[in-house]
Amino acid sequence: MQRECIARRIEVEGIVQGVGFRPFVYQLANRHNLKGEVLNTSSGVSIHVEGIGKDIDSFCRELKKNGPPLAHITDVSDYPETMKNHNSFSIAESRPDASRSVLISPDVSICDDCLKELFDTKDRRFRYPFINCTNCGPRYTIIDDIPYDRPNTSMKHFRMCGKCQEEYDDPGNRRFHAQPNACHDCGPFLTLYDNNRKMIDVKNPVETTAGLLKQGYIVAIKGLGGFHLVADAENDKAVYTLRKRKLREEKPFAIMSFDIEKIKRFAVIEPEEEVLISSNRRPIVLLKKKEPNQLSGEVSPKNKYFGTMLPYTPLHYLLMQHDFTALVMTSGNRSEEPISIDNEDAFIRFSDIADFYLTHNRDIYLRSDDSIVKRTAGETRFIRRSRGYVPTPVFLNRTMQPVLACGAELKNTVCITRDNKAFLSQHIGDLENLSTLEFFELTIRHMKRILDVYPEIVACDLHPDYLSTKYALSHKKAKVVRVQHHHAHIAACMAENMIDGPVIGLSFDGTGYGEDGKIWGGEILVAEKSRYKRAAHISYIPMPGSAAAIKEPWRMAASYLYDAFGEEMWGLNLPFLKATGADKIRFIIDMISKKINSPETSSLGRLFDGISAIIGIRNLVCFEGQAAMELEMLSAENTAETYDYEWISDNNVFKILTAPIIKGIVADVHNGIHQSVIGGKFHGTVIRMFTELCEITRKDTDIERVALSGGVFQNSILLSGMIKSLEENRFKVYTHKLVPANDGGISLGQAIVAGSAD
Ligand code: ZN
Ligand code: ZN
Ligand code: FE
Repeated sequence: MQRECIARRIEVEGIVQGVGFRPFVYQLANRHNLKGEVLNTSSGVSIHVEGIGKDIDSFCRELKKNGPPLAHITDVSDYPETMKNHNSFSIAESRPDASRSVLISPDVSICDDCLKELFDTKDRRFRYPFINCTNCGPRYTIIDDIPYDRPNTSMKHFRMCGKCQEEYDDPGNRRFHAQPNACHDCGPFLTLYDNNRKMIDVKNPVETTAGLLKQGYIVAIKGLGGFHLVADAENDKAVYTLRKRKLREEKPFAIMSFDIEKIKRFAVIEPEEEVLISSNRRPIVLLKKKEPNQLSGEVSPKNKYFGTMLPYTPLHYLLMQHDFTALVMTSGNRSEEPISIDNEDAFIRFSDIADFYLTHNRDIYLRSDDSIVKRTAGETRFIRRSRGYVPTPVFLNRTMQPVLACGAELKNTVCITRDNKAFLSQHIGDLENLSTLEFFELTIRHMKRILDVYPEIVACDLHPDYLSTKYALSHKKAKVVRVQHHHAHIAACMAENMIDGPVIGLSFDGTGYGEDGKIWGGEILVAEKSRYKRAAHISYIPMPGSAAAIKEPWRMAASYLYDAFGEEMWGLNLPFLKATGADKIRFIIDMISKKINSPETSSLGRLFDGISAIIGIRNLVCFEGQAAMELEMLSAENTAETYDYEWISDNNVFKILTAPIIKGIVADVHNGIHQSVIGGKFHGTVIRMFTELCEITRKDTDIERVALSGGVFQNSILLSGMIKSLEENRFKVYTHKLVPANDGGISLGQAIVAGSAD
């Protein structure tokens, strides 16, 4: 009996371009005896198949199940078609069409097949630093427009040689339509320069670079998403010099190590961390230090962790095989400016930092810093979500109208929503200078173009002075929605957990502009996506000197002490008072009394800072959150004990008094109790106190769900402790696993709130 042939059209959406999807379809169709064609469209991949119904069905099943490694299918739909009587199955030309909603793959690390070729003396790409295939290599950082085809990438400047072209055209080849495909003969190449921009003509620039690093020089190396500044992590002098030249006095440096075995020499790595660090996204993972270890103390001073990553480009592998335990690989920027991506720019900006430059001629269109993650309470937590993850969307529980959210100020990211997806940008940085603002605007333009979305709703922070707010307000035709900072934090947590609320939101933060013009940051909000009510907060305390109080925690210490003891504070026998000096502190107290430049804050981050100063850890900071971080690093993980605590009710809002806690801590300092014990007790106090407040809020509202967000939740002792305590009290706890709890995740929350506003 002759079975009848039919035709069907199958549309696939998701990350299906630039990931070897068409050759996969080609091979699959041939295996199932189907004829027809496959092509990229601007909404994904379109497949026309002709054959027996049963074969088409099994083809569809496998298509959904066994995609190539980088593919991520979000939707498959199929339609009846008329027969066109194809003779074979083929891959057709890309078709630009009306809806341009294709998803671009993030930049991922070199795959095992390419790695094997890289070190195979007989392979024609032996030691080629730009080796890649459809399963690996650069994507987001080299793309300028969609569809993802070579003319829309920075590879358009390189014409493939005959051999590369053959691979590119062969559907059976691993490099079929691998847009960055290249080799020694036709592709990008490395060049080594000295500090006077003089080219150093050597046969093997990587080997020479390795030699220079071993001699203690600092080399600027162009990578995937930008430049790194590189130094030998075992060489004290080199790391110290880099620190001094980069004006980054104490922030930890990231390091790279060849493999897990080498990492085990200086850090403890748990099995889940091993999986995470080896994934093709290759984030920087914070790993507990082994003490003592052979790396320079300058790499990550006063910190329990090393921010560690494995090599992710072929160039990294070629470099790391020269027997380094680890190399410092810190973002190539000057303090808080965006990372450098352009050769010319690097020569200028690093002229007094780098001794040598290892660069190449493949342009980076869009910079992307290394992502930073940490395992806490059994989950991966983002500190910075960037290379390897962007532009993979966060999937939402509903379809939304398009919104552009501009983020806050520090650790800025932006977010654009389309359908049921929220696209967060890579890390943009602190929006405090012109070059970061330019990068912010460029990223927004770029994202609108590659997502083909032009939102008419623009969301931003309530803070009138943020550059992101000013940018949003410049959209005269758009509907601008201003979102309270901590509401946005909680909404981000709800969104990534696909819940609508209401929730009890704990927003533990450093700084955020409140509805009353004060600076919030130790908040319990009863929140839905479209609205919130403040249920409790830390009572207001003056911040003498405003922004100066963030850089100088001793000012906060003085403020908390004055609040707790009044004039009696002068009689306290506190090392902090002597070390800081009565005159300086008196001056600050005067500012507070006369209400001069002393805005009020309910921030938990500031309370951590102040306590850090009172117990003698740190009076001044070099970067935001440093005092609080060092308090965490020093604190015992035993949080069973607590200080006395107290709150008052004012118009149905609970106000937590800081005085009883401060008095307890001062008494412990008097009694010579160790900093680590005091730190542990303070963490315990925050955990116990907020759990009780959640219980009271649950009684009032019947809400059992608690969402945790805000930068202070980067503190692992606090996050684990809070989760445990709430769960023991039968709360359902939601935390961040997809976007950072800090302001890097806030644009997601802004978008959700603005898109839900009436
Ligand atoms: Zn590969
Ligand atoms: Zn070639
Ligand atoms: Fe915040």
